[in-house]
Amino acid sequence: MKHRTVFAEVLVCAALLATPAYAHKAHEHGAARMNLSVEGQEVEIELEVPLADLTAFEHAPETDAEKKAVRDAAAILHDAGKLFMFPAEAGCRSTKISLESDVLSDDLLAAPGARKGTAKHGAAEKKERHDDHEKAEKHADLDAEWTFVCRNPEKLRRLEVGLFKHFPSLREIDVQMTTPGKQGAAELTPQSAILRW
Ligand SMILES: [Zn+2]
Repeated sequence: MKHRTVFAEVLVCAALLATPAYAHKAHEHGAARMNLSVEGQEVEIELEVPLADLTAFEHAPETDAEKKAVRDAAAILHDAGKLFMFPAEAGCRSTKISLESDVLSDDLLAAPGARKGTAKHGAAEKKERHDDHEKAEKHADLDAEWTFVCRNPEKLRRLEVGLFKHFPSLREIDVQMTTPGKQGAAELTPQSAILRW
């Protein structure tokens, strides 16, 4: 029986190794993925980023310092104008922001002005205890979505991404772009953080 179990594990490992990096749940620290879509006056940006690159840990926060780290990261992500710099003449303004993570409560991720103050304990606490069991092996992402509306969308030809300045452990962002009449891909790095289309 013992031998069969080991054999099955080897098969599982081989299958995981054969899977392309992005098809699997485990992520690479320092690497984020972004979707940019420009349609009419609306720009939508989706980001999937390892939590480790925002807060330096990937579990539900346990200490006050960890909770502060999450609130600080959320405050930066809510400041859309510092993260995404459109040409001024395009007249873009941020209209909606949503942040989500399996291990973080909505209250911790809320905009600084919209927080209730006391974090709820129920669900987050349960997740926390469950995570303790195998914390070392767990990974967690944060999914963010920003919506902008632009007065002069015809002036939208570039976007400077400021994420690297605020989250210095980020090394690359793989971007999929859908812009008027075009689909494309780009890789952003701290040295080259401007998308053009
Ligand atoms: Zn991770």
